[in-house]
Amino acid sequence: TGRVEFRDVHFDYDPNRQILKGVSFEVPAGKTVAIVGPSGAGKSTISRLLFRFYDVQQGAVLIDGQDVREVTQESLRSAIGMVPQDTVLFNDTIAYNIRYGRPGASDEDVQRAAKLAQIDSFIERLPDGYRSMVGERGLKLSGGEKQRVAIARTILKAPPILVLDEATSALDSQTEQEIQAALDLVSKGRTTIVIAHRLSTVISADEIIVLKDGEIAERGTHPALLRKK
Ligand code: ADP
Ligand code: ADP
Repeated sequence: TGRVEFRDVHFDYDPNRQILKGVSFEVPAGKTVAIVGPSGAGKSTISRLLFRFYDVQQGAVLIDGQDVREVTQESLRSAIGMVPQDTVLFNDTIAYNIRYGRPGASDEDVQRAAKLAQIDSFIERLPDGYRSMVGERGLKLSGGEKQRVAIARTILKAPPILVLDEATSALDSQTEQEIQAALDLVSKGRTTIVIAHRLSTVISADEIIVLKDGEIAERGTHPALLRKK
């Protein structure tokens, strides 16, 4: 399970400006589709529609053939794991924020996910400082660290559908490679939608969709798209 389908999706945030103009694609269960394209093309909007932060105006978004409008928020939340561009964390410990991915997970599992995301050294920390008995405050988490908390949460949750929205964009290149490897592990065998800026980061996706100005400009595998250039 976990097949995702966008069927002739039209969407706008404001009726004067169409953001998606009839987008259709399918991600077979367990496969990876990458959506690339310039900033403003509508890539993140696609992930928001899947999660039903917004509803489409025309067309449909389906999971395993069922319109997301007919799925409860609860089952959507359990089916999809998202690593967003900007992670907002609860003002509680990092461990709490990771465990949110799978309430009831054991401390060992939380620790293991934190280790894969390389944040195990500070899981007792609060997002905006250290929890300390003497009340001293430490450094705020950086954007990259927050992203790693979202990644650890998703690793722990291990949902059937993964949405990685520029998931490693806030990391330096050394960390990025290591975290990428951890993400590749979770995405194995799971339906994965990877949103990226550049073609070069999504070489192994089963299909790459190039989105421009709300429309699919090109699609194919990485080698096929390179041949066209
Ligand atoms: P991408 O992820 O490809 O950079 P987005 O899907 O984030 O693009 O955004 C597509 C367009 O929709 C952009 O022009 C953006 O300004 C606009 N947009 C995004 N979110 C909103 C919103 N909440 N309200 C109004 N316009 C939005
Ligand atoms: P498969 O899982 O079929 O081997 P991929 O390696 O393309 O295919 O799987 C998708 C993986 O792409 C994700 O797990 C993630 O590690 C990686 N990825 C590539 N670029 C990005 C990006 N910009 N943001 C997040 N993840 C990315």
